[in-house]
Amino acid sequence: MTDFIIQSVGMLEVNCMLVPVGKTLYIIDPGGDAAKIIKLAKSQDCSETIILLTHAHVDHIGAVGAVATTLKAKAVYLHRNDHELYSSPANCLRPWFPPAKNLPPPTHFVENEDFSVIETPGHTQGCVCLYFKQFPALFVGDTIFAGSVGRTDLPGGNQEHLHSECSGSRGDDVTQFSRKGKIRVRKCEPRGRARVSAHPQSVPHRHT
Ligand SMILES: [Zn+2]
Repeated sequence: MTDFIIQSVGMLEVNCMLVPVGKTLYIIDPGGDAAKIIKLAKSQDCSETIILLTHAHVDHIGAVGAVATTLKAKAVYLHRNDHELYSSPANCLRPWFPPAKNLPPPTHFVENEDFSVIETPGHTQGCVCLYFKQFPALFVGDTIFAGSVGRTDLPGGNQEHLHSECSGSRGDDVTQFSRKGKIRVRKCEPRGRARVSAHPQSVPHRHT
């Protein structure tokens, strides 16, 4: 099994994931530190790059422009419900996070055999989780944190939506990778809250 890389980026240390599958390198949430991400990407034996965004908050998209340009990314996938937020000048956290620059136009997700998309609106209207079956791993962005769920008081957030989407999630045991550390979901009961436990010090795939 090919490994994947978790690199924390930006002031808020958001997890950016670099997931090589065959000749395609998926870069999930390049939120900052473009030079670090590009260096890691070039170390992979991949011929094409696709950027996947779990949602459009500025701390998850800050390096999209530089990474996409330098690596000649084939596509930037983002749920259509977050496209407006993605390009909004109000999508910033001044003075720490000004609006992201040089953003290429996003495309709504096109799933393939490598990954599938689970819509989980609430943290933002277009928030998604990304499931890669070969590991298996679920990249949840800010939808779920260790022992809790993501904030809903930021632009696009809706508490009611988030709790309903986190209920009744898939029933399989999978390992979830959030914005920080790892969360193992042991079982999600139908219509029940996911039971989660945090193991932030034991991320097996962490290289940096
Ligand atoms: Zn967020």
